Amino acid sequence: MTAKTPPMISDDATIPWNLPLRPRYVFSGANLVDPAKGQVLENVTVHLYDGVVKSVNGNPKEWMDDSTTIKVDLEGKFVCPGLIDCHVHLTAVPGKMGLEEMKNMNPSVSLLRQPQVCRSMLERGFTTVRDCGGALFPLKQAIEENVHPGPRLFIAGHALSQTGGHGDMRGLLDNHECCSGTTQGVGRVIDGVPDCLKYAREEIRQGADFLKIMGGGGVASPTDKIENIQFSDEEIKAIVTVASNAGTYVTTHAYTPQAIQQAIRQGVLGVEHGNLLDEETAKLMAEKGAFLTPTLITYATMARFEGFLPPASAKKNKEVLEKGLNAIKIAIDAGVTVCFGTDLLGKLHFAQSREFGLRRQVQTSLEVLRSATVNAARMLRQDKFLGQIAPGFAADMLILNANPLEDITILDIPEKHVLATIKDGRVHTSRWSKLETDLHRIVNIA
Ligand SMILES: [Zn+2]
Repeated sequence: MTAKTPPMISDDATIPWNLPLRPRYVFSGANLVDPAKGQVLENVTVHLYDGVVKSVNGNPKEWMDDSTTIKVDLEGKFVCPGLIDCHVHLTAVPGKMGLEEMKNMNPSVSLLRQPQVCRSMLERGFTTVRDCGGALFPLKQAIEENVHPGPRLFIAGHALSQTGGHGDMRGLLDNHECCSGTTQGVGRVIDGVPDCLKYAREEIRQGADFLKIMGGGGVASPTDKIENIQFSDEEIKAIVTVASNAGTYVTTHAYTPQAIQQAIRQGVLGVEHGNLLDEETAKLMAEKGAFLTPTLITYATMARFEGFLPPASAKKNKEVLEKGLNAIKIAIDAGVTVCFGTDLLGKLHFAQSREFGLRRQVQTSLEVLRSATVNAARMLRQDKFLGQIAPGFAADMLILNANPLEDITILDIPEKHVLATIKDGRVHTSRWSKLETDLHRIVNIA
């Protein structure tokens, strides 16, 4: 008797979500939007292959005869770098809930809804997002391995908060002891330098690309005031040390000048929200090269949905909303690099694109587009790979039927103006009959 050879299992069967090789694309007749130079280049040919931009106005003739090349004449449509949202929470998924119920959502229920949130961001033209608390490595891995489509992710893991800080979701009458390191929704509660060192390292070990701290009071947390400063100098310094040793940076959730200044002086390089920013603080941020990521649309949208926020949070929300636009003006005047963020939670994700229109009230269309492309790429330390359509950059590109440099608010209505979203050299979404998506899986089971 000879031993039977076990049947071969193909890679396709082992990893059935593997996609076939990316097609080669040659887009001609494009108006190329260049946010770095602030101009539109006319009648351009863009060649994408293997996940990157191979050439812009190069000579792709050698490939033009290849029957597998997908050639599309854009007839003057606009190509724009894929958008980057620098402040999202993918785990705060939609559903019929207010903030209170969302905080108590079962993690598996959230996880199963996250692919929908990811897909909807691609449909709005966001090819990269930075998650500022909640999204974990398995989600990032699932997108990278094409288990389901989604934007490129840069994640903080759990946002780090002190007891009673913006990441501590216990109410005033909840007297349960909260042991150090406990995770609560998007955050993790820690106190003291040793735990700051330990759990900052834990987040990095578990795949965080950067660290996020809750450096001041927040709107959604029940027991802290907006003007509270959170964490001590020593605690922040410990977290900054862990981040810089790991080759990355810390960003802080902070509204007030005091909270921002404390963090920046300890080496923090990013400020989230920053609605109450003043001139002196903006100057300090500019000196230290710190980035500001305002998230105005979350306050504007929360204000529209009565009952979404509990009364204590609604009052805080009103206060920060009114100041937010002015803070952007102050930051720009001081020379701070401003990035695009939204921070939408639960059922409010739909409003992600409306941040563009809000910002237009105080910024030019070019400034707003830069915040969601080249500025964001710099903060992510990806400025040689993301945020532009240029040779060697990621093939992350939108096809638009209008010019965002003329009027950035066209991006507020993606269903009308974003014809296709190309990410990593694949057409992820298309509303245009001339271009098909290419996420088809062909699995041959022998
Ligand atoms: Zn947030």
